[in-house]
Amino acid sequence: MGDSEVVEKLRALVRIPTVSHTDESLIDPAPFEEFRRVLAEAFPLLHERLALHQVRDHSLLFRWEGSGEADPVVLMAHIDVVPIEESAPGQHPPFGAEIHDGAIWGRGTLDDKGSLVGICAAVERLLEQGFVPTRDVWLSFGAREEVSGADAAAAVEELRSRGVAPWFVLDEGGAVAHEAFPGVTSPLGVVGVSEKGTTTIELRAEGRGGHSSTPERGGPTARIARAVVRLEKRPFAPSLPEPTLELFTRIAPHAPLALRPLFANARRLQPLVKRALVLAGPEPAALVRTTMAVTMLSGSPAHNVIASSATAAVNLRILVGDTVASATEHVRKAIADDSIQLDLVDVNEPSPVSPTDDPAFELITSTITELFADAVPTPYVVMAATDSRYFTAICPRVYRFTPFRMTKAQRESIHSHDEHIGVEDFLHGVRWYTRLIERLPA
Ligand SMILES: [Zn+2]
Repeated sequence: MGDSEVVEKLRALVRIPTVSHTDESLIDPAPFEEFRRVLAEAFPLLHERLALHQVRDHSLLFRWEGSGEADPVVLMAHIDVVPIEESAPGQHPPFGAEIHDGAIWGRGTLDDKGSLVGICAAVERLLEQGFVPTRDVWLSFGAREEVSGADAAAAVEELRSRGVAPWFVLDEGGAVAHEAFPGVTSPLGVVGVSEKGTTTIELRAEGRGGHSSTPERGGPTARIARAVVRLEKRPFAPSLPEPTLELFTRIAPHAPLALRPLFANARRLQPLVKRALVLAGPEPAALVRTTMAVTMLSGSPAHNVIASSATAAVNLRILVGDTVASATEHVRKAIADDSIQLDLVDVNEPSPVSPTDDPAFELITSTITELFADAVPTPYVVMAATDSRYFTAICPRVYRFTPFRMTKAQRESIHSHDEHIGVEDFLHGVRWYTRLIERLPA
């Protein structure tokens, strides 16, 4: 399968609007069915030689049988994309898959059909050569990643029921990130070894309500407002998890001269590093602490009605080291108001940290070095959530990396507009997946 053919396969799959919605009743199944059909046509050998297990309605789990008995690996990607905002500006149509300036433009090119097609093309090419992997390779392609649907958990259950205990799992998350750190000119091959836990706490204050002509002090709305202000005044204390410390150590030699000593000695200078990152802006601050954002507020339904109940949603991104319990306790203490009820909705602990002093991590990073000689491979903590967090239940080595070069603008285009992948970058990523599979030890 030649390069231009592989590019056409990606374009064909990007054109299919496999949009997920949190309300599953809004999901149109037709594009997912079409995706499956087009994928089967695009990669005939893969579909002929690998065993396919359908997971729930639209997620796919393939097993490629290896020559040996060693623990299998799981390569992941997802089929679905986020909806298009009608008002979003866009240079190129989101499902056009048009080629301009040496790049393929469209929703899902980076997140995450590029990976999905990259993995399939690598497998197809290896099958064409009669290659057999040294151990089983599973491909897990989820159709509800963007809405944290039950598909990934179901895929994990399927593997567990078959007694599959993977050696490692590789999903999206990191990349070959250009302009990743101010002053660091080398791209970083960032491999996610943990991800923050996403949890929401709903705050609720109740009261008498009534007519707005006879207000009472300290009603539900006032107490919720006070709670929100108190939360803003009591952010979480910063901390430097081990992967972040290792990131600083690894990038120190590539940092601007003035920052080198600080990075190289990050372990010893933790208080200073933490303070510097908190002051450097919301993104660096999110690296070193659990964050909370008040997102949904509600109170009275009418101008002349005093609310009998007011609520606020606090969306937490919990850093490894904190837990749902400790973060909830922090919120409770910061609010300091027993009349406010706290309800946990959508609970996710931060993912356990995958090892970096380990042959699986070494295989991934040395393959990065082989294909991206200019990149500095390093572990880091992923800020977003991926389907791979469910796989931590059956595997201690879950890594998050897509083998594509991405500029800052490209990373910002994910879930936004004008998402695009360089044609050469995409093809190079296919070679990375190919080499990773070829290099799997017996
Ligand atoms: Zn994604």
